Amino acid sequence: MTYEVYAFKYAHHARRALENFIGGDPHDGSMPLDYFVWLIRGDGREIVVDTGFSAAMAAKRGRDHIRCPTEALRTLQCDASAVKDVVITHLHYDHVGNFDLFPQATLHLQDLEMRYATGRYMAHECFRGAYEVEDVVGMVRRVYENRVRFHDGDAEIAPGVSVHLIGGHTMGMQAVRVATRRGAVVLASDASHFYANMEQTRPFPIVWSVADMVDGYRKLSALADSAGHIIPGHDPLVLERYPAPSRDLQGIAVRLD
Ligand SMILES: [Zn+2]
Repeated sequence: MTYEVYAFKYAHHARRALENFIGGDPHDGSMPLDYFVWLIRGDGREIVVDTGFSAAMAAKRGRDHIRCPTEALRTLQCDASAVKDVVITHLHYDHVGNFDLFPQATLHLQDLEMRYATGRYMAHECFRGAYEVEDVVGMVRRVYENRVRFHDGDAEIAPGVSVHLIGGHTMGMQAVRVATRRGAVVLASDASHFYANMEQTRPFPIVWSVADMVDGYRKLSALADSAGHIIPGHDPLVLERYPAPSRDLQGIAVRLD
């Protein structure tokens, strides 16, 4: 079984390189972030990876909101309200903000991520800064509705689609591995924000454990068929390195498989 895999850009943030590496950056040029959600499709299944944030959250956090992630998904006839499985790579605001737009979905989350987002470390701004308490509370409500499937480490969620605990960026950060026609593609999400983080072993500064983040780069390599099969979570280069599925989707979506 192989799947098609797509990345959809929904937001953007202009920033400088020194904000993207522990210890800054000697050149400190412009190094913007793109924000993505991902779609895995095949065998009659649609699995969405992360749900992005809303226009209201973009205004609150000073990000450029380009389109609702569910509108982006609709460009490839994916109806968010009917999606059955959503992987939440971690509970940061830019990955989980719209999960109420996926009312039918089972949300796949690591045990450790819920523990982290509801536990003692959230008393500290340095750890909670990228979490939104209403997102976390909303996820707890989904647990009580039996809409969350917890995973403890590695797990297959469909034939050829698996989640893998990476940690590092957050305690329960998970990546997704997908069997495709070109081999095993790994959606790293924020296990590596940019190609440069993993390729140059220069960790991103929002971090739970620097050691786990660095070990995570090796884990991603072990999971993927080659370095070219790893998709970083926020790198604008993803839109340059992969083709749009059609001309009218240029700058919106790319096909990764
Ligand atoms: Zn992120």
